[in-house]
Amino acid sequence: MSKNKKNEFLKSAKAETLAIRKHIEKTSQKEHSNPLFLTSSFTFDSAEEMAAVFADEQEGNIYSRYSNPNVQELIEKVALLENAETGWATSTGMAAIFTTFGALLKAGNHIISSRSVFGSTHRLFTEIFPKWGITTTYVDALDYEGYKNAIQENTKILYLESPSNPALEIIDIEKVGKICKKAKILFVVDNCFATPILQRPLDLGAHISIHSTTKFMDGQGRTLGGLILGSKELIKKIEAFARHTGPALSPFNAWIISKSIETLHIRVERMTENALKIAKKLEKIDSISWVKYPFLESHPNYKIAKKQMFGGGAIVSFEIKGGLEAGRKFLNKLELFSLTPNLGDAKSIATHPASTTHSKLKPDERLSVGISDGLVRLSIGLEHVDDIWQDLKNALK
Ligand SMILES: *Cc1c(COP(=O)(O)O)cnc(C)c1O
Repeated sequence: MSKNKKNEFLKSAKAETLAIRKHIEKTSQKEHSNPLFLTSSFTFDSAEEMAAVFADEQEGNIYSRYSNPNVQELIEKVALLENAETGWATSTGMAAIFTTFGALLKAGNHIISSRSVFGSTHRLFTEIFPKWGITTTYVDALDYEGYKNAIQENTKILYLESPSNPALEIIDIEKVGKICKKAKILFVVDNCFATPILQRPLDLGAHISIHSTTKFMDGQGRTLGGLILGSKELIKKIEAFARHTGPALSPFNAWIISKSIETLHIRVERMTENALKIAKKLEKIDSISWVKYPFLESHPNYKIAKKQMFGGGAIVSFEIKGGLEAGRKFLNKLELFSLTPNLGDAKSIATHPASTTHSKLKPDERLSVGISDGLVRLSIGLEHVDDIWQDLKNALK
């Protein structure tokens, strides 16, 4: 098949196919696997060419803080999976979140956010942004009237995470999108827990979707990275900010994550399948007071989850009877599960927020973000589901 015929075929191919087949321009070696462009800058054949690329009159890479073929490949692959026009890649998920707010806000602006957001995002809202006169109002995740009532004249962005961490609340993205559209404010969704395989916020009315690629996209715990996806118009603003503030993703990490994207759909599908099986089994255990998983019928937001997600994801949370001490004991008895603050990995992971990430908060403060003392969060991996269950069963005895 000639190269042109191949390109024609890919024009009508499905996103999963493109995520595997998308190849940046091949080098003279005609390599099958995309090569690594570990270079900080790029060269020009003449002063005229250099001037044209610098003036944006001709396409080309200049410097890897601005663009790099491996980074571009990752952006294009994930943009395809998420139905985004384009995107921007950053060194971490937090860099993606900070860059988005930094690029789109100025002093005096106001943010509305769902209450339970990632810990470092909470620090941005409460400790960093106030230094620049940017304020945030928190609204309980499912309080749709609350989102409307929080809108001020200076509100620029409504931000949310769904599913939320670790309470796994499912916010109706389409419904919040309509509120934002009416109020003419930007709607940003942290889509890290769902991945583009299970949820596409841009199709549901969001303007920007953010990922920590550190989690499911790498999926094997090697790299940190972040992605911002949206329209060309918005990403242009992100680019103008990011080029000069320097949150660029390293080409090496982009190359690893890009390779991982080839298996993202199959990994997420299997993790989701395992997680649903585990959630159903946990529901039958006496020493557990409740289990939360978006695709369990007992989940309070089950209907919304079914409407906006293609699967329940890999994260299961549950409440172990006996509070803080029982949670700690359970973690100590696990043999297969890793105790580590990551998720979306091939290896199953367990965390106990009350004794670790949220130990500094008082019990009632923890409860306000959905963390009870016996809450355990599992990230179900790709091990055989029988082994995953055996380890949990032993630890629950
Ligand atoms: C991990 C995570 C982040 C931050 O990503 P890093 O790559 O660790 O900077 C942001 N949001 C959510 C929901 C996350 O799980």
